[in-house]
Amino acid sequence: KITLAIESSCDETSAAVLRGGREVLSLVISTQIPVHQKFGGVVPEIASRKHIVNIMPVIDETLQKAGLSLSDIDQVAVTYGPGLVGALLVGVSAAKALAFTLGVPLIGVNHLEGHIFANFISHPDLKPPFMALVVSGGHTSLVHVKDYNSFALMGQTRDDAAGEAFDKVARVMGLPYPGGPQIDRLAQEGDPHAIDFPKALQEKGNYEFSFSGLKSAVLNYLNSMKCKNLPVNKADVAASFQNTVIEVLIAKAMDAVRESGCDTLVLAGGVAANSSLEGRLREAADREGIRFCYPDKLLCTDNAAMIGCRGYYQAQAGIYSDLYLNAVPGLALTDL
Ligand code: ATP
Ligand code: MG
Ligand code: FE
Repeated sequence: KITLAIESSCDETSAAVLRGGREVLSLVISTQIPVHQKFGGVVPEIASRKHIVNIMPVIDETLQKAGLSLSDIDQVAVTYGPGLVGALLVGVSAAKALAFTLGVPLIGVNHLEGHIFANFISHPDLKPPFMALVVSGGHTSLVHVKDYNSFALMGQTRDDAAGEAFDKVARVMGLPYPGGPQIDRLAQEGDPHAIDFPKALQEKGNYEFSFSGLKSAVLNYLNSMKCKNLPVNKADVAASFQNTVIEVLIAKAMDAVRESGCDTLVLAGGVAANSSLEGRLREAADREGIRFCYPDKLLCTDNAAMIGCRGYYQAQAGIYSDLYLNAVPGLALTDL
């Protein structure tokens, strides 16, 4: 089966062609980061317009790279949520038009499930069940992946997502969007124990996250230093903030994997690209004999290959969409 996959939920226009569920024949990602940078974050209306300009060229380039034409496509998978409604609609409309014209099935995919499924591409032998820690720009969730089409949400953030906290802290430190990679780089030169920032919801068995208090604590720290006319070591702030996030993520992910009885922990989402998070989660997992997986860097942040992989496994189970498929900005994880 050849799957054409489309992703346009936020600020990346992406298309991919997969053979089966895990073999990526081609992947094209057109990022709008430079466009949104001068605004310090994604501007939804601009994102939608850019997607409209980019979508067909990105699809054409993907097919060309795979050495295939539209007539080779057996099914079309597309992200229909969660994300920005105008951005999602561009991908969904293109996918519906292609599925209709080609007379092939349409598969609406949940973007978060896609992030998790990126791991199946990077780890050909990975199989459910496992515990997934999804840390992205808009989400921080622990998901028990019981089978390819069966998920249970163990807990998620009550307020800011991990990536969002990285981006906001970076912004107040005057670093460009997206802040995650900037903090990551700066943190490598800082002392992770220089400043003691608070950790929320630390009780055992609590799988919810909260990062807004931590974000405020960083802000208060920067303001108080400024008031006292004291110099700020930005690298120490970045390292201490990042260390606090990582310690919370590790504690909760390890608790969750233990409780679930799974022997594998999987990391997913844009923050998975963080250079210390992956190494420290691996250490924690190794100590307890838990297998640890995370996707190739390119597949951590938004891309259509992960959507194609998720779509393939949905199709295997007969979970298709009809041509009335609509964008669902607040789409939750499917509890199947
Ligand atoms: P969602 O998937 O929840 O809808 P999104 O698609 O915007 O949100 P992703 O593409 O998964 O998010 O990830 C982007 C986020 O990852 C941004 O918040 C970015 O700052 C963060 N990020 C990327 N690289 C790193 C890094 N090296 N360290 C920390 N955070 C990072
Ligand atoms: Mg993005
Ligand atoms: Fe994402």
